[in-house]
Amino acid sequence: MNCDVLVVGASPSGIAAATSSAKAGAEVILLDKEMGESFDHPANTFFDGMFFRAGLAVEREYVLHDLDGMRIISPGGCAIEIPAPGRFIDRSRFDALYLERAERAGVELMRGMAKKAPLAGSGRRVETDNLGEIGAQVVIDASGVDGMIARQEGLSPLRHPEDVAWAAEAVVELAGLGEERRFEYFIGSISPGWKATFSPGGGDLATLGVFVRGHGRDVRAYLDRFVEHFKKYKSADYDVREMKIVSINRGGDAIAALPDEIVSDSLMVTGAAAGMSGMAYAIRAGGMAGEVAAGAVESGDVSKRNLSPYDRLWRREFGLEYRMGRASLLTLGRMADEEIDRLAADLAKRNLALSGTFFRKGFSAGIALARARPRTIPGLIKSFAEG
Ligand SMILES: Cc1cc2nc3c(=O)[nH]c(=O)nc-3n(C[C@H](O)[C@H](O)[C@H](O)COP(=O)(O)OP(=O)(O)OC[C@H]3O[C@@H](n4cnc5c(N)ncnc54)[C@H](O)[C@@H]3O)c2cc1C
Repeated sequence: MNCDVLVVGASPSGIAAATSSAKAGAEVILLDKEMGESFDHPANTFFDGMFFRAGLAVEREYVLHDLDGMRIISPGGCAIEIPAPGRFIDRSRFDALYLERAERAGVELMRGMAKKAPLAGSGRRVETDNLGEIGAQVVIDASGVDGMIARQEGLSPLRHPEDVAWAAEAVVELAGLGEERRFEYFIGSISPGWKATFSPGGGDLATLGVFVRGHGRDVRAYLDRFVEHFKKYKSADYDVREMKIVSINRGGDAIAALPDEIVSDSLMVTGAAAGMSGMAYAIRAGGMAGEVAAGAVESGDVSKRNLSPYDRLWRREFGLEYRMGRASLLTLGRMADEEIDRLAADLAKRNLALSGTFFRKGFSAGIALARARPRTIPGLIKSFAEG
């Protein structure tokens, strides 16, 4: 079997990469070890701003619940309200829709696990568990935060792999809880290094998650603690004893990991595998990778040099935001709960206009943080400069 572009991972970034490559004229195979089953993708919320930024429209057929914004809650309970429309989605329907569009664009969907992708002639030879070898001019690794393909080929696609936030997210049911209209992000030691989240999904459905940096992959104890904290927090509004945990999703969120080496000869890395966290960002990056790959195949030169425009395009569009987002997150991670409380009280008074994409919010929050607590500025600058 041979193709122009082989994409490993029918993730948001992988589907986008495959579709854009096929639309640009390449013969594309999209390979996933779970193709044909229901994917185990945990991400099920987004802000509209991020989606529009990725050039996507919000489509009703996968939206389960509309949200008006988010509330950031400090350890002591001070809340900062941020109006920013968002959605809770049915992830299976979302994936099915975009896979169908990929197929319509000419992408061949295959079920199989890629094991290695060594160089072979002018392209690569992808070894799979069940389909034998597939030859490709360009391989795009979109296999998620634990993806091995690029790493096996000697690339370090994540600049700060130690800063992946490990997550555990409970899908819960409680009468009426899903009808709330705001995401709630709890920051501070409840979920060190990033956030604990409440995402209402409509009706009785919601998720409660913790995303923790610097405490290993097993963050279940943080989730248990957060669930208890959340029950107390909502006890005046609901009969929280009735809350049922339906299932628990786990995984990594590359929120502060940043991309590093994302291009090599005949090889590109995109999405969470390349430190590009968030569905919409992953989709936008995948789209860029796919187009550049198709162009390189057409030109007959799939060398690193000819695939590098992808790296440059990404850095031009997102590099600054990601670095500022990381610097803000690292600075927040170094603050004690009491300090976060004081900061939140200051920020709540300032009526922050934190709209737009997540990283734009991170950027604005960083500026606000620096204004409210000038002594955080050296730490912010250091984290930013180290990028
Ligand atoms: C618990 C949790 C909740 C999250 N919630 C949100 C959210 O609400 N909103 C948001 O924007 N982001 C969220 N994120 C982050 C988000 O999941 C990722 O940023 C986003 O999915 C981008 O990942 P991806 O598209 O690169 O890869 P993934 O979604 O991780 O998909 C990787 C795919 O590659 C396949 N694969 C892996 N290895 C191989 C192989 N060797 N061969 C073949 N196939 C392979 C897998 O089967 C999988 O389908 C969450 C993360 C976690 C862990």
